[in-house]
Amino acid sequence: MFITGLLTIFTLLVAGSGPAGRPVIHYPIVAAAGPRDRVLIVAPHIDDEVIGAGGYAADAIRNGAQLYVVFLTAGDCNRSSASILHRTLEPTANNYLEVGRTRIAEARSAMAKLGVPPDHYFILGYPDGGLRTIYDNPNTIVKSRSTGELSVPYSEALSPGSPYSMEYLANDLRRVIEIAAPTVVIAPVPFDMHPDHSAAAEITDSVLTASHRNPTRLGYLIHTSRIPKSFVWFPDRSLAPPPRFENYAWATYPLTPRMQREKDRLLLVYKSQRPNVFLLRNAYIRKNELFFVNDGREKQKAESRKQQSEGRTLFPLAAARSLTFEAEGRKKGAIPLPLHAPNDLLISALCLLISDFCLPSGMP
Ligand SMILES: [Zn+2]
Repeated sequence: MFITGLLTIFTLLVAGSGPAGRPVIHYPIVAAAGPRDRVLIVAPHIDDEVIGAGGYAADAIRNGAQLYVVFLTAGDCNRSSASILHRTLEPTANNYLEVGRTRIAEARSAMAKLGVPPDHYFILGYPDGGLRTIYDNPNTIVKSRSTGELSVPYSEALSPGSPYSMEYLANDLRRVIEIAAPTVVIAPVPFDMHPDHSAAAEITDSVLTASHRNPTRLGYLIHTSRIPKSFVWFPDRSLAPPPRFENYAWATYPLTPRMQREKDRLLLVYKSQRPNVFLLRNAYIRKNELFFVNDGREKQKAESRKQQSEGRTLFPLAAARSLTFEAEGRKKGAIPLPLHAPNDLLISALCLLISDFCLPSGMP
């Protein structure tokens, strides 16, 4: 176990000098949201909205845009969080429910800090780790692997008591989309390796299609086979896609040092995610945010031509193949995450060993 731990630490350190340090100057720049924009960020878990688009979101609010956030789950299948909160290696269903409540409270704090009013964010409370199963089995009610619940157990949710099924999830998301009436939707990419993320992308797009809405659709990638996590923060580096995704249709949103600090403060609100939140900070708070553009390719083409005439390099549109990506993401997403991933026990044990460091003040 000791050797495995050392290898894990070595891998994390080496990852810091990996693909995340590659330049992204050849990708076009995403325009900031303006006063007439209505932005909806879809987060499978509570913290994804900051990791993926916290800088863009903060600028959107500053520019007078309407910003909405929808959290599909309460993040209540996180074994490390449950272990740290309850100081146990074998968390119970109630322990996981408490994680969900804690993360919902953190979401409220983060939204307040970001400047999102309570009627602009929505907690749906569907099962963490269960979105792929729900999407792939639309006529089935899914049981949470962590809490054992069959329906939304949180009173703070949009529809408490709704069964864990595609029909109810789609209804909730449709309500949110009707309220937000978004001109821009930011959700995960369909080729994210995390089943909840790839499913969130497909669920979002299917509800948008059924609602006959066609907003600008931007995607954020968090989980890849080479997760660029590291123990060292490199705020002066760019966030670039892994090499095998380099030719996809990416665009980039620059972050100033001030915005990096603001995003950092927002992300660290998620204290229940310590110490992992520090690794995420080191990986995702960089000189830019990265977005996959899976719609409006003609609009992008025009923008690319404009940027090229201004001396910037060309967006590789010829490589855009979003249908292929969906197939790829679906294939990967079909593999469910086990409740106890191979490294979970080791990570939980390490977290407990250093729990004085991990535990924020005021937590049980
Ligand atoms: Zn997530």
